[in-house]
Amino acid sequence: MAGRSFACREKRSEINRMEIDQSTIDAVLAGNRRILARAITLVESTRADHREKAVQLIDAVAQSNRAALRIGLSGTPGVGKSTFTESFGMMLVEQGLKVAVLAVDPSSKRSGGSILGDKTRMDRLSRHANAFIRPSPSSAALGGVARRTREAIALCEAAGFDIVLVETVGVGQSEVMVADMTDLFLLLLAPAGGDELQGVKRGIMEIADLILINKADGELKSQAMRTCADYAGALRLLRKREQDPKEFPKAMTVSALEEDGLDQVWSEIETLMGWRREHGHFDANRKRQSEVWFEDEVRRGVLAQLEQDETLQNLQEKLRKQVANGALSPDGAAAEVLRVLKTLK
Ligand code: GDP
Repeated sequence: MAGRSFACREKRSEINRMEIDQSTIDAVLAGNRRILARAITLVESTRADHREKAVQLIDAVAQSNRAALRIGLSGTPGVGKSTFTESFGMMLVEQGLKVAVLAVDPSSKRSGGSILGDKTRMDRLSRHANAFIRPSPSSAALGGVARRTREAIALCEAAGFDIVLVETVGVGQSEVMVADMTDLFLLLLAPAGGDELQGVKRGIMEIADLILINKADGELKSQAMRTCADYAGALRLLRKREQDPKEFPKAMTVSALEEDGLDQVWSEIETLMGWRREHGHFDANRKRQSEVWFEDEVRRGVLAQLEQDETLQNLQEKLRKQVANGALSPDGAAAEVLRVLKTLK
């Protein structure tokens, strides 16, 4: 723990000193890992002066108009996400592609055990010159996960990565959030008995473009193939996506450990992305995501301003008591706040 807090202090003083000048911008654009890592630390910070610098930097690097393929990856702990990321990532970097891996861990309770916290789990990839791996922040800042993930993706894109893989643990809303900021979503599952099929939430199945049944090797192989057939059937029943070729979403088996089936995964991704680009869906999705990002930021900013306004805070404090003792209805009290809000500049 002491080691970690020391590291945090180190990072903090680095970003305190960080100037958003042309040399910093150029370093990010040139893919300088040290500066990129520092820039990501900056966007993770909630301090007002850091925020200001973060926005300045994001704005400046956005001018580069570089676009990586953004891939979301999810799966429950133990399903093989790290192993898959290592094998799949290695396959891509060996083809000459530059790969960034970001981890999203929305669970504030998780302490230290962040999914990519242990870099040695991706030993080969983390040492490769064409790869950049960024673990979840160890200080679990509440909220702001979506913002810092979006911004970290934007920084990696500007730094010239071809692929940004955003990995998240299968806990509730995080997959939906990640799917909303990526071009394609992979769901990793383990071989299972038929009845366990029910365990995957419908919503998660709905956002997956490829369902990968991992661990299709050794004794688990035939079970993995059965599970794959079950999911293929479930996907057919679930829905049709108007904008995609009819064979998508697809279920496939892979072995991350034996590096089997990974080239097929990449080929399916290229097929789907090629189709979406050709039919305008890729750009349409990006545009929609940018609009959502903008609206989120406006909403967040407006709320922050409200929380800082003393008149409104005092009024709310007074009205809260009146609502609590029944003197005012919640609706009436809220209407009063909105009325006063309108009179403020
Ligand atoms: P994560 O928690 O989802 O990141 O899962 P890990 O990548 O840490 O893998 C969990 C365990 O499953 C480890 O013991 C891996 O060696 C094992 N594992 C991962 N992929 C495969 C695979 O394709 N086949 C087999 N047999 N085991 C695997």
